[in-house]
Amino acid sequence: MRKPRNSADFAEFSTVKAFSEEETQYDRHKGYGDVDVALIFPSDYDQTVGNLGYHKVFQILNTVEGVNCERFYYDPSFTKFYSLDSFRPIDEFSIWAFSIHFELDIFNIVEMLRKKGIPLRSVERRGEHPFILTCGSLTYFNACPLWELADIILYGDAEDPLPTLVKTIVPAVVKGKRRQEVLETLSEMETVALPPLEKEHRTLSVFSSLSRFPSRSSFVHPKGPFGRKALIEVGRGCLRRCSFCVTGFTRSPARFLPFDILKKEIEDLIDKEQAACGKAPAFGFISATPTDYPHLPELLAFLERSSLDFGFSSIRLESISDALLSGLRRGDQQSITIAPEAATERIRWVLNKGITDGQLADALERIARAGFREVKCYCLFGIEEETEEDLLAFARLVEEWRKLGFYKIHMSFNPLIPKPNTPFESRVLESEGTLRRKKKLLENALRGLCQTQFESLRNSQLQSLLAKGDRSLSKHLVSGHSGQTIQKQLLQNVRTQTRTKDKGSSHATIR
Ligand code: SF4
Repeated sequence: MRKPRNSADFAEFSTVKAFSEEETQYDRHKGYGDVDVALIFPSDYDQTVGNLGYHKVFQILNTVEGVNCERFYYDPSFTKFYSLDSFRPIDEFSIWAFSIHFELDIFNIVEMLRKKGIPLRSVERRGEHPFILTCGSLTYFNACPLWELADIILYGDAEDPLPTLVKTIVPAVVKGKRRQEVLETLSEMETVALPPLEKEHRTLSVFSSLSRFPSRSSFVHPKGPFGRKALIEVGRGCLRRCSFCVTGFTRSPARFLPFDILKKEIEDLIDKEQAACGKAPAFGFISATPTDYPHLPELLAFLERSSLDFGFSSIRLESISDALLSGLRRGDQQSITIAPEAATERIRWVLNKGITDGQLADALERIARAGFREVKCYCLFGIEEETEEDLLAFARLVEEWRKLGFYKIHMSFNPLIPKPNTPFESRVLESEGTLRRKKKLLENALRGLCQTQFESLRNSQLQSLLAKGDRSLSKHLVSGHSGQTIQKQLLQNVRTQTRTKDKGSSHATIR
């Protein structure tokens, strides 16, 4: 490990090293290999800790012979980008694999390449430049904005194609073949697109059996979104079909980890944590809807017998049981997170959320009876069918919940962003003016009743643009301007378009 001499580089190096030293690492990089792969999460460290897809790719790549994979994350202040594993700078890595899960993180990829002097357009890269591989959740519904930027795009689940992909190109990279020849070695892969060769993918990779390679944390750190919990994926895809959500429509079929395999993973992580810290970890069970896990009663009984603390990534309100609530309370958890999305049954019906007013009220009563005093609630607004009455109903809900004894209620609002491959794909994000008016109405109605948080309208507009953007959008991204400038240009276009659309709109009900 070489410590940098320059003070700015040393500060960056120290930040990365501090995160790394506070981690408990269950899997290690190899430290040697014919090819070094940088696995980059193009967002901050906290997000990196909580993303099991990223952990999984790290494990997969380090099982491939000849490959040494190390972890990186994005920070806007970074210029060197040091590995969380060996602390080497990223320039020493010949494949840069971006695990991308959120639309806005594409701007961070652009910034990172710009800072490192890598040509943004894949066709302009030469022998001395790294190969830019992209994979992750974004590829399930729209990877078009990545088209000009990426050398390789892997579509769908990484478990099966990623080892094949890397095994195929490593010998060509080692032999120093020309970029085009290296990429041509992948031309037969059905789930891979090669933009510089204009080669499209033909299908989305679906990993049919989670038990063959269960997903669980490779490392934990207190800054993760689930705290220091060791995470295990109990299911992939979703049995539900909420009209706004890509998960239900793009990750079919829903698959679940058999209980005996899950138990083995839990026991394995207990052994690893015991060896590292001398105590059992708390667990976080991850899936689109962990409460739909078919072996939930057995899991809860096992966790109780073993006195293990746990949390779930989300909870379906109609699936709440007293056993689940008492299990969650065992670790003295005060707060519970729910996602009814809308305050009225009418709008939940529009969203195909499938939760009645009675189920919502019953769930909150049970939660209160179990001793929870804080509730965090995810909500949507900006739905064309919603009226002022539907929005004011949030305040009535909060008042009812306060009567049940909840003293801290946090309402988090996101505008409805129509996504491709969902029943809402032909909708548009409501105009800035309409969203601002709806936000104001909600703020006024909820003032003094609870905490509120609203996703920035600017980010929502950008997200909406990227979610449905085509390859022409990709050309903007590689224009060479800074991320800030590109965002301004894109927003300018959105505003012009929505102003034009608003003139003929019959949907916006709040004026
Ligand atoms: S919102 Fe939740 S329950 Fe609905 S489809 Fe998406 S993941 Fe499933």
